[in-house]
Amino acid sequence: MTFLGMPLLPSKRRSDLPGGQGNIIEAEAFPEVSHEHLSNQQLRNNIGHATSTIRSKRAEVVSELDDWEALRDAGEATKNEVMANLPEYLAQFEEAFTAAGGIIHWARDADEANAIVTELVEDNAPVLETGRREVIKVKSMATQEIGLNEHLEHEGIDAFETDLAELIVQLGEDKPSHILVPAIHRNRDEIREIFMDKMPDAGELTNEPAVLAEAARRHLRHKFLTTKVAISGANFGIAETGTLGVVESEGNGRMCLTLPETLITVMGIEKLLPRFADLEVFLQLLPRSSTGERMNPYTSFWTGKSEGDGPQNVHLVLLDNGRTRALADEHGRTALNCIRCSACMNVCPVYERTGGHAYGSTYPGPIGAILSPLLTGVEEQGNGSLPYASSLCGACYDVCPVKINIPEILVHLRNEDVKANHSPVSSQLDAALTGASWMMGDGKRMAAAEKGLPLAHKVTGGEQINALPGIAGAWTSSRDIPALPEKSFRQLWAEEEANDRDEEGQR
Ligand code: SF4
Repeated sequence: MTFLGMPLLPSKRRSDLPGGQGNIIEAEAFPEVSHEHLSNQQLRNNIGHATSTIRSKRAEVVSELDDWEALRDAGEATKNEVMANLPEYLAQFEEAFTAAGGIIHWARDADEANAIVTELVEDNAPVLETGRREVIKVKSMATQEIGLNEHLEHEGIDAFETDLAELIVQLGEDKPSHILVPAIHRNRDEIREIFMDKMPDAGELTNEPAVLAEAARRHLRHKFLTTKVAISGANFGIAETGTLGVVESEGNGRMCLTLPETLITVMGIEKLLPRFADLEVFLQLLPRSSTGERMNPYTSFWTGKSEGDGPQNVHLVLLDNGRTRALADEHGRTALNCIRCSACMNVCPVYERTGGHAYGSTYPGPIGAILSPLLTGVEEQGNGSLPYASSLCGACYDVCPVKINIPEILVHLRNEDVKANHSPVSSQLDAALTGASWMMGDGKRMAAAEKGLPLAHKVTGGEQINALPGIAGAWTSSRDIPALPEKSFRQLWAEEEANDRDEEGQR
């Protein structure tokens, strides 16, 4: 029995549904790791430079379209339609994909998906002289999420990443730090060093992007021509026709999708679109939001298999891994609408300063701060600190091509975290907040409190407050309180009105 992404029956509790596994569970809490990363100036420079370049490219190409807001509305409506009817669209997709000669496998979680892929590779890739098997890979967040490469390695299968940035991360024995530009934290000099070290045939290289790309191309060419099995993700699955699609910039993906005999795709169940015609909207929204391009250079679609052309064994692993659970969260489920464009990361002031590794999950940045806890369940597993990794400035919502209200979901998840993980015994902070809420809930009480401002101004000497004692010290340990004003807004207003009256009287 497979979870089909069914919305919850009212009687079923969300916490009864299985959470996701794999590389979406925070290994270390964000506050601690981000501290370390904040002091790495080189990392901040690399990320700051890359995100500001992508930001301006995106802003430029988006401003060219008069109907950008209408496109965003259409994208949001289509994804909401998918989530509201996911079981029906999945069944329709399965029927069309199977009729076209493809084979579907359903995976409840990372373990099941890894086991299915391993078995398929063992059935289709020969054992080489080294005693191991080999596969080539198209960049894929779903396989990153389930930790497929690590699992395959353990099972005697070497997976070669073919996307340039993924290759840099793999050769550097590193982890991706951005969903679109996984090696965003590396600069050209660092990449040159990795290539010189890990590509014995590369010879002497400069740090020119064209030289580095050519070295990677030479390194991969033989693999493209000899490897029997490729593994990919998918950007879209079209329910109407059973078609899968991958968009990319380099063409390496297309080589993987067409040259090997066997193609295994791993796709989250939320990636569906109802109709082929919906691509009209998404193929405008995605490249402009992600790479700041009007069109992505390579767009590949395949519907099952074609006799004598391309892979003849076409498999698709449909992955739940907590998506059913996220779907059951009525306030958070729109996070599943995400098309992984990464625009929210590129505008996020927190991401720009800490980098992606600080989030400890496959999905960093604003979308990671909501998606990872939704997939795993903020109540039971790690990821409890991620909803706090935001200034709630709203920039992510403004750029999201499918209008996911990330700040609202962050606040919802903070609330869930407090309900689930905090002590039922009231703390000092609870008492302070209850007091503040009582005071601010009534205009007269607020006015009475404001009467103390002149005195507080005198006590602090009109200076900014950098440290407070007791519970308030936790606040000032990471922020300053601006200098208190001599007079409250009400006093200034009353004085202003009195002045106006005097002036009126004199006229
Ligand atoms: S949340 Fe929106 S902006 Fe962020 S990656 Fe997903 S689709 Fe793009």
